Amino acid sequence: MTTPIEPIIIGLGGNIGSEVAITARFQRVRDALAELGELRAAPLYRSAPIGPAQDPYLNSALWLRVDLEPVALLAVMQELEHLLGRDRDREVRWGPRLIDLDLLVWGQRVIRTPELVVPHPHLAERRFALAPLVDLVGEMVIPGIGPARAALARVADQPVEQIAQRW
Ligand code: ADP
Ligand code: MG
Repeated sequence: MTTPIEPIIIGLGGNIGSEVAITARFQRVRDALAELGELRAAPLYRSAPIGPAQDPYLNSALWLRVDLEPVALLAVMQELEHLLGRDRDREVRWGPRLIDLDLLVWGQRVIRTPELVVPHPHLAERRFALAPLVDLVGEMVIPGIGPARAALARVADQPVEQIAQRW
């Protein structure tokens, strides 16, 4: 018997450069990760920034199934961030970023290591992460959080708008 490969959700965000440039970075991430396994992309959203005053963010999410361990996928994600020009050493906490890739959910797994916490610790409080996640898997029940749709309803007051179905 083979082990089922669990569905993974990755959140994407970025707010440096034009929306065309940010979308182009999202497309490069999507196309690179599609090489690793099965992938579907959520719609594209624009969201108000959290933290210091800065430009609005674009956000989306990817659903994928890959035969990798979580830390190995996180390493791929960090390598992609780096290839796209992200330099963590120059960043302000919660400040502007070229690209941010967060591992939001890994099936029903709960992971708590120094370098990786899954489900993502801020998922339940962020509409920009929950909205594309619900678009991808409407009936998802997130470990420690509960039904994703109910979590999304609790943060419905946050300013987030869908700007494209496909990208
Ligand atoms: P943030 O996403 O909070 O703005 P970073 O992208 O710089 O900040 O991530 C900081 C650290 O968060 C990374 O070094 C990574 O090891 C850790 N981390 C812990 N859990 C996760 C997760 N679920 N997804 C992505 N990074 C995570
Ligand atoms: Mg991150």
